[in-house]
Amino acid sequence: TATSGKFDRQALISLDAIRDNVRQFRKVTEPARVMAVVKADAYGHGALPVARAALEAGASWLGVAHISEALVLRDAGIDAPLLAWLHTPDSDFAAAIRAGVDIGISGWELEHVAAAAHEQERPARIHLKIDTGLGRNGCPPDEWEALIGRAQAFQDEGLLRVVGVFSHLAVADEPQRPETDEQIDRFRAAVAAAEDAGLHLEVRHLANTPGALTRPDAHFDLVRIGLGLYGLSPFENQRAEDLKLTPAMTLRTRVANCKKVPVDQGVSYGLHYRTQEPTTLVLVPMGYADGVPRIASGAQVAIRGRRYDVVGRIAMDQFVVDLKSADAGFEPGEEIILFGPGDDAPDATDWAVASGTINYEIVTRISGRVPRAYT
Ligand code: PLP
Repeated sequence: TATSGKFDRQALISLDAIRDNVRQFRKVTEPARVMAVVKADAYGHGALPVARAALEAGASWLGVAHISEALVLRDAGIDAPLLAWLHTPDSDFAAAIRAGVDIGISGWELEHVAAAAHEQERPARIHLKIDTGLGRNGCPPDEWEALIGRAQAFQDEGLLRVVGVFSHLAVADEPQRPETDEQIDRFRAAVAAAEDAGLHLEVRHLANTPGALTRPDAHFDLVRIGLGLYGLSPFENQRAEDLKLTPAMTLRTRVANCKKVPVDQGVSYGLHYRTQEPTTLVLVPMGYADGVPRIASGAQVAIRGRRYDVVGRIAMDQFVVDLKSADAGFEPGEEIILFGPGDDAPDATDWAVASGTINYEIVTRISGRVPRAYT
């Protein structure tokens, strides 16, 4: 099976964890429905297996950034409602329309989508995006009514149907900040303007993972869950377990070499680390080509349930841990866990802290060189 037997480097994904996490969000956010955000290859977990598991567990929508990501899901036979929200004029709107992919619209895309719909002789399904404060994509509030008017004109021509209004939160991971209130207020006003103009919306959606967990008033009809689906916490001071979430990814490998070295042995490029005593060094066959951050030199790994420090520079294919005990040692092939669920190993957030980044990036950056396996 995927869980046992041969692996030398592996991202092992628990689809049970994905399903449990979806069920947990459904419990917290009902009657709102759950959109599983599976962009970026499901944050490194594998878009297809994760999408299928999430739908099995009761997610009713899928969300991605790019139309190209949506088409991969459709080509694999996934027919759930599916939204793509980040485009350029070269994005394949015609293919999205043919595949029944909903298209997020912030402004300029509208005319491109209407032209593609005309050419395909099939109406597009669109969600209008309002910028309620994030300052990235989305229609500025003072252009919202004009955008609604343009969309309605195309809808009257039969070229599209406005099925949703949405926006994205900026600081929901910091629940004490006031900006989320302002964003929710602006979102309510934008929805009201759309409905007053006569649009019949299927879905209004605003919340991401932290919004879904802390702001019931941001749930509306649908919550878009990315990080939480993968069992990771978006909050600085709350662990996944506190949120009843289970990390889905275990990043593991095996000992490639283990040797005794004397005091003052320099380790890895630059020789910036020197052993403090006679000790044993373990060579770990993963590096920045696998997506392990080069700057994560304060991180730890677990071997047989004990933690050991990463020392010296992380290289392209390998790094070193210092067992800091001259008598301990491991045979080549012993399992090493970089991060995973439970208390026996560091988690992705520990690696994020050691790397000056966020857990979102730690899992998403695990590269294609690391085989994914599913359990
Ligand atoms: N909605 C949109 C528009 C996004 O871009 C993202 C991801 O950044 C999400 C939802 C999911 O966010 P999170 O991973 O915090 O749940």
